[in-house]
Amino acid sequence: MRTYGNWIDNRWAAPSEGAFIDSIDPTTGEVWAQIAGSTAVDVDSAVRAARTAFTTGPWASMRAAERGKLLCRLGDRLAERADDLAALETRDNGKRTVDILPGLQTWLADSFWYYGGLADKVAGDVLPVDVPGIFNYTRREPFGVVGCITAWNSPLLIAIWKIAPALAAGNTVVVKPSEHASVSTLALAEVFADLLPPGVLNVVTGFGDRCGEPLVGHEDVRMVSFTGSVPGGRKVAEVASRTVTPTVMELGGKSPQIVFADVDLDDAAHGVAMGLFPPAGQSCVAGSRLIVHRSIQDELVERIATVAASARLGAPTDPATQIGPLANEPHFRRVLESIARAEREGARRVLGGSPVTPEGTCGWFVEPTIFVDVDSASDLFREEVFGPVLAVVPFDDEDEAIALANDTSYGLAAGIWTDDQLKAMRVADAIEAGTVYVNNYFTSATQSPVGGYKQSGYGRENGTAALDAFLQIKSVWLNTAPGIANPFPQE
Ligand code: NDP
Repeated sequence: MRTYGNWIDNRWAAPSEGAFIDSIDPTTGEVWAQIAGSTAVDVDSAVRAARTAFTTGPWASMRAAERGKLLCRLGDRLAERADDLAALETRDNGKRTVDILPGLQTWLADSFWYYGGLADKVAGDVLPVDVPGIFNYTRREPFGVVGCITAWNSPLLIAIWKIAPALAAGNTVVVKPSEHASVSTLALAEVFADLLPPGVLNVVTGFGDRCGEPLVGHEDVRMVSFTGSVPGGRKVAEVASRTVTPTVMELGGKSPQIVFADVDLDDAAHGVAMGLFPPAGQSCVAGSRLIVHRSIQDELVERIATVAASARLGAPTDPATQIGPLANEPHFRRVLESIARAEREGARRVLGGSPVTPEGTCGWFVEPTIFVDVDSASDLFREEVFGPVLAVVPFDDEDEAIALANDTSYGLAAGIWTDDQLKAMRVADAIEAGTVYVNNYFTSATQSPVGGYKQSGYGRENGTAALDAFLQIKSVWLNTAPGIANPFPQE
């Protein structure tokens, strides 16, 4: 079993208090690694290393084109080492290896290639200011040290979506992953060690309050990008407000999938099931509210139930497994509690709802679960379960479907299933969410921005918007006229 320190200045550093946290494999329930339980002292070391790298040394003096080439090499390295990293992430959070590996080899490596290409294309503007004798232009500059805090469901994806644009913009980075799944992020930093100058990418691990908060509140951290729950985001925004540190918030969701009566029922059943169950509902954009036309509700629910019930639950390393475990025991218990609460609220369970223990596992698995007769005012319809639990509510017309979809404090994503493309565009316009999928779900590409409306957050990842988020704008005023008039002319 390996014990990991913090990754600071391209070296392993023991935690200042000598405390370690067990990292538990959700497939077996066994402790498989230990990570540093860091405090403000460790965070300060990491931030100081990042600050030094930002202000002096090779990173500080590197031309943007060179930085871009370096990022491209990081992409190559990520693709080369994807096997090892995917295996570590599967141990860490139970995500199926087949779901992690192709992403690391292709579109997550793309992040480094894409932002590498953009690194030397960050341009300011010359503004047509209407001030005689004045020339005005803007520069877009990095913040300095940025703090990145990530969730446990997809630690590498979330970290890479932050690290690649942050570095392309010229910042240096300190990442704090979730203490439930930190190893893959530590390994990523180690894999990049011979490519990045010391201090450019640092990782400190530990609990949110003892390690995350000191990072957010550190006076040399000039910007924070956070991915996690709404309560976590609120806390981080509160701490950041003390130093007036700008934040990007990528938070939770309770995303609707609207199914109109004109669909092919099998396609819609496959689509709705695909939009929730494969990651056991542990995706921020998981389509966990089915809003379905009343005329097809019973038939569609039956077909979704048939598809979901056929899924093979098992060890996430087994290529035959179709749904893996929940990522950690506290979360497994929370999902079961949400199911029990849904029943107390009067929803009718038509599929699943129980824990299962596939052979060779410790049993943090929950069957794909479907509830009908769900009250749109209930917790099940309104609160994120982050598990394989579908809440079904019928609608009678398009306006009602839109109203139900928007009747939530979240606004991360939505799915629309219809054969009528004009209706799809009309409904997509009316949905209050940062991402809308029409007849597909979970699709993502480096070029296209991702982020939330309402309490699902603000700021964007991916696309040029993510690069902008890691840059600040300076406006420079040049006087082109000769002489400076005395501000206090004497008569
Ligand atoms: P949390 O909000 O509990 O934690 C997220 C991260 O914040 C963890 O690293 C956590 O550390 C840290 N943290 C917690 N409290 C603080 C604090 N006071 N100060 C600083 N850092 C803190 O979320 P989960 O890890 O449970 O992740 C699941 C959530 O993430 C879901 O709501 C999901 O929807 C959302 N998510 C959103 C995505 C998006 O792109 N919009 C993508 C993926 C997930 P620790 O674990 O030690 O508490």
